[in-house]
Amino acid sequence: MPRKYPRSKERQLSKERISILWEQAQKSTRAGQLEIAREQMRSARKIAQKTRTKLPRSISRRVCKSCGAILIPGRTSRIRVRSNRSRHVVMTCTNCGDFVRYYITGCDRKA
Ligand SMILES: [Zn+2]
Repeated sequence: MPRKYPRSKERQLSKERISILWEQAQKSTRAGQLEIAREQMRSARKIAQKTRTKLPRSISRRVCKSCGAILIPGRTSRIRVRSNRSRHVVMTCTNCGDFVRYYITGCDRKA
């Protein structure tokens, strides 16, 4: 594919496309179309790879790393705040049972 835009412009476009795909993936997940949502995130990732950008953290934190499902609290994920030793949030994917832990370091930061 020939390069149509300068790199900065390309990145700008990819950001927009990724956020559109993210919106759609969330909608699909809410509608119970998990397979479609996963497909949408797969193409979002592809766009990110192509432009050598990463998915923004706000998005990558809400995608299951092992099965690719979109983690929506109460729908496809379970969120528990634990505070033994240090405060952290445990996010469990109800699709595959995998979980991620996020440590809360400051008071202003919410995982
Ligand atoms: Zn999962």
